[in-house]
Amino acid sequence: MTIYAIAATQSLQPQRHWRVPTRTHPRPHCRRRSRRPPPSPPARAAIHVRVLEKEADTGTAPRACGYYGASHFALEKAGVYHLLRRAGFMTHGLCWRKLPADVDGTGRHKKLGEAIASLPFAAEGDTTYAAGAGQLNLPQSQFTRLLLGECLGTGRVEVLFRHELKAIRDEDGEEAVHVVARDASTEEDESFT
Ligand SMILES: Cc1cc2nc3c(=O)[nH]c(=O)nc-3n(C[C@H](O)[C@H](O)[C@H](O)COP(=O)(O)OP(=O)(O)OC[C@H]3O[C@@H](n4cnc5c(N)ncnc54)[C@H](O)[C@@H]3O)c2cc1C
Repeated sequence: MTIYAIAATQSLQPQRHWRVPTRTHPRPHCRRRSRRPPPSPPARAAIHVRVLEKEADTGTAPRACGYYGASHFALEKAGVYHLLRRAGFMTHGLCWRKLPADVDGTGRHKKLGEAIASLPFAAEGDTTYAAGAGQLNLPQSQFTRLLLGECLGTGRVEVLFRHELKAIRDEDGEEAVHVVARDASTEEDESFT
């Protein structure tokens, strides 16, 4: 069986690691999960997947860099959360500060501005950050490369770059879906079933 999907891409530069100075409320929803990662879905379900991506490679544009809450569980379920944790780093939450303050009046040395609001994503003192707690920081460009490697590693995923999806036809009574994509290399339409 072949499934068609669209690839995710993109990126951001790594952010500085800093901690939220104060806690505004408890985090009742931080759930503990098994640390053993489940197998990735394609390997688990033995489904063959073909990904059509119109770009020539995964993206490098500045995009996501912080992942929170429910997305951790989705990534854990996909069997990749541990990989992303290893590649990225965790922070406690977010805070908002006033402008950087002068240290010595010369304007050359600055310190962080005063924190005026904070948004913790984990319980106070939590340093383990089980899935669902804290903020996972990783540029989306790296995130995507890791996912791509993981997909290709299953031997069941084929990624066709420079293939722009043009049409999907799903006829009543047919088991297969018909897809037309434009191959930018040949500038011809290709059909997939
Ligand atoms: C500046 C910015 C900052 C962000 N920060 C965060 C953040 O910190 N945390 C967070 O969780 N989210 C963040 N997001 C949102 C996050 O980037 C998106 O939610 C995520 O990329 C969506 O993934 P997607 O796969 O649905 O779509 P995309 O990542 O947009 O992927 C769609 C893919 O489909 C391809 N495509 C499109 N049309 C076709 C076609 N016809 N044929 C073939 N391929 C096609 C595109 O080239 C692209 O590769 C941010 C977004 C932006 C723009």
